Amino acid sequence: MAIAGSGVLPAEVDVAVVGAGFSGLYMLYRLRGLGLRTVVFDDAGDVGGTWYWNRYPGARCDVPTTDYAYSFDARLEEDWVWSEKYATQPEILAYLRHVADRYDLRRDIRFGTRITAAVWDEGARRWRLRTGDGNEVSCRYYIMASGCLSLPKTPDIDGVDRYRGEVYLTGRWPHDRVDFSGKRVAVVGTGSSGIQCIPLIAGEAARLTVFQRTPNFSVPARNGPPPADRVTQLATDREGYREAARWSRGGVPSELTDVSGVTAPEFLRRERFEAAWQAGELFAILGVFSDQGVNAVSNEHVAEMIREKIRAVVSDADVADALCPKDYPFGTKRPCLDSSYFETFNLPHVRLVDLRRTPIVAVTEAGIDTAEESFEFDAIVFATGFDAMTGPLVSVAVTGTDGVTLEDKWRRGPVTYLGLMTTGFPNFFTITGPQSPSVLSNMVVSIEQHVDWIADCLQRLRAESLDRIEPTPLAEAGWVQHNQDCADITLYPRANSWYMGANVPGKPRVFLPYIGGVDAYRRACDEVAEQGFMGFRLDGPAGSRCNDGVIRRLQPDMAMVLDLVGSLGLPPIETMSVPDARAFSEATAASRPPGPEVGEIADAVLPGPAGDLAYRLYRPPTQGPHPLIAYFHGGGWVLGSQDSDDPLCRDLCVRTGSVVVSVNYRHAPEDRFPAAADDAFAAATWIAANAAALGGIPGRLTVAGWSAGGNVAAITCQLARDAGGPEIASQLLLAPVTDCDLGRPSYTSNGEGFILTAGLMRWFWDHYADEADRANPKASPLRGTLAGLPPAVVVTAEFDPLRDEGDAYAEALAAAGVPVRHIRARGHTHTSLTMVDVVISGAPVRAEITDALDGLRSEPSRN
Ligand SMILES: Cc1cc2nc3c(=O)[nH]c(=O)nc-3n(C[C@H](O)[C@H](O)[C@H](O)COP(=O)(O)OP(=O)(O)OC[C@H]3O[C@@H](n4cnc5c(N)ncnc54)[C@H](O)[C@@H]3O)c2cc1C
Repeated sequence: MAIAGSGVLPAEVDVAVVGAGFSGLYMLYRLRGLGLRTVVFDDAGDVGGTWYWNRYPGARCDVPTTDYAYSFDARLEEDWVWSEKYATQPEILAYLRHVADRYDLRRDIRFGTRITAAVWDEGARRWRLRTGDGNEVSCRYYIMASGCLSLPKTPDIDGVDRYRGEVYLTGRWPHDRVDFSGKRVAVVGTGSSGIQCIPLIAGEAARLTVFQRTPNFSVPARNGPPPADRVTQLATDREGYREAARWSRGGVPSELTDVSGVTAPEFLRRERFEAAWQAGELFAILGVFSDQGVNAVSNEHVAEMIREKIRAVVSDADVADALCPKDYPFGTKRPCLDSSYFETFNLPHVRLVDLRRTPIVAVTEAGIDTAEESFEFDAIVFATGFDAMTGPLVSVAVTGTDGVTLEDKWRRGPVTYLGLMTTGFPNFFTITGPQSPSVLSNMVVSIEQHVDWIADCLQRLRAESLDRIEPTPLAEAGWVQHNQDCADITLYPRANSWYMGANVPGKPRVFLPYIGGVDAYRRACDEVAEQGFMGFRLDGPAGSRCNDGVIRRLQPDMAMVLDLVGSLGLPPIETMSVPDARAFSEATAASRPPGPEVGEIADAVLPGPAGDLAYRLYRPPTQGPHPLIAYFHGGGWVLGSQDSDDPLCRDLCVRTGSVVVSVNYRHAPEDRFPAAADDAFAAATWIAANAAALGGIPGRLTVAGWSAGGNVAAITCQLARDAGGPEIASQLLLAPVTDCDLGRPSYTSNGEGFILTAGLMRWFWDHYADEADRANPKASPLRGTLAGLPPAVVVTAEFDPLRDEGDAYAEALAAAGVPVRHIRARGHTHTSLTMVDVVISGAPVRAEITDALDGLRSEPSRN
């Protein structure tokens, strides 16, 4: 029954909200609580949003009902009892109607009313909204609670209008029961909706033909009563459970694993997978391994075990093969939960048509023609998905401050601050907008978080006599970059998914939701608010203010490492004895991923000035001879050895196709300045002289090092120039120590919290060199003469205390006429690049280093 809000539409309100689903209903509840005059619009005939429209057979939630429910009112929770783990559409709709009744929400909702346009009036500082029936309403704040999946994608198949039989769209299902008994039915599309409705339609239809373009991963839902353990947890500590959900990765309390799918033994992999398979929950199967979302090998283990399950169920081997997804990583398209989906294809009256082999040519008057066959149907069901996330927002002609529409602004992909607002559109909020966790999470948790943030924001604006809020371009650009950084370390951008806009022709390919996690996202939003709405310009009768800035600049995986390190509460290295510090750094190294396979690894010694120096040689798998890299490890002249940077050396070897010779050198405090530098120079001299024997190309030596190793590498190049040899073709300095002045700004801004601290650098210097020696170019190469040095690749990291001295060295080299490639590793720390396969965002930087080295190697030397 359609129940409309009563009375005349007011000409002016404080807030207009579009959408009366989970988002709009709770938003209205909060705004009323603030005493703001609010009107809600929905083109549906009643509340419910998704659950009003999607009435197809089998429509259910796929996040358990224990979690897929509001948490803002404990009494509401206590009063409502779900009948199933995954409730059907009618039950969820009944719940939302109950919510509307309970809080008397309908009186402020205009049903059957579509908002078609919204224009910002800067003079009045108000939005003017236009409805489909030609009415206007003016509001101070305009909130789109219009849903991520509310604009169904109509089939873009030739001849759809010609078809004379019954046509159904899963996202716009009729309210009256549809009877497929005795009918020949087609279902086009095998996403979540298709997978849910196919078994039920098969149960009725005389014949069912399923047209599949992309096979989908699906897991048995194992539906039943709500999970007893969670019901108990909620009964005993409801608020604790809800708070855990709010601070979880996906909006459902769950334990994160540290088991890697790459290193776990086969039995453990299978054991973990089987447990997730039996659990019948999306977040379980998405969390079998810690690295399945970022590592292709780990992901493929899960994908293949699901394919095994499909093959075990589907009796026809060809059909099973067609149902097995093979060309995108598991999870990168939304996985599904099903009830007997794959089993349905064993029924004699059900047929699968693989559109990759025989594409649809046209819809005809009687049915569907593929490249090979003509089909006749009594009914066609299009389960063709949605123009997700941005579709409902840009389908309204929203015009901002400078006359630009939202559609124009987002032509190359959405641009938002926190997925909540967008520059040029003041006082315009989006609930679960693009670049917020939204569809990657339990959406009710994300909806409540957005609604609360917006309501709290409006409350504070009012309290501070402000009435206009707009994000700054800087803050917005920073958030867009952070979203991109988060997506780039995952496998998600590899799939042609609706997360990427790939299901809609002409839509830009941009990863739409925020994938950094519900917890990380909530923290960012909270921090923004706590820091005086950082990144927003606020105006009103009380004046203007803006605390401009970027809320997240660290690479997301590095941030996770830092969080983990912080949570361990380890004592700072500089408080340890040297033996303890060495034991600690060795223990840390023992548990890291090994890095890529190389052709050969050999340990040996070379002669140093005060005895033999151990080295480890890494040979590429390709036929030699190869360019040579003499590599010096990091560790502040105190820690480390020839194998302490093993993963980085393997990576350098494979990427650059070079023989890498990683040399140990004498360490402080046993051997203080200039022992390390002398050893490095001697080692480089020996390596150059023995290039051919080592499998290297004579004359193609790069001297490289990280941190203190970068220091001795830079000094080696200076010593070699002064001594007339060895011949060094290039130098690679990774976050090098170049100067003893610890007063540079990066020592302050990055001196704490990024693993290498200012205090630790002081400890290293104290162990290595007397004050009087530190300015010597053999300790501080920045103080030396730089002209005539080999071409250099210098890498500095944004959040490294050593950043400024590395920058200074790169600039001084260039000023001295040395060809330099200076790579500034954005969002990285001192240790990022060495953490191969841990800090995945370091990989593109190492690729850039390889390109830079190649560039230098192919450039004629200017010396
Ligand atoms: C079949 C299906 C199953 C799902 N299952 C889950 C699940 O298990 N777990 C989960 O977390 N999420 C699930 N989702 C996602 C689901 O959309 C959200 O969980 C949630 O219901 C969204 O609520 P909402 O209020 O934000 O948006 P919606 O429920 O989409 O409501 C938005 C409303 O705004 C209206 N609207 C849009 N534009 C306009 C306009 N211009 N003028 C007037 N009205 C407008 C729409 O008609 C709609 O009624 C599912 C989605 C679908 C389609």
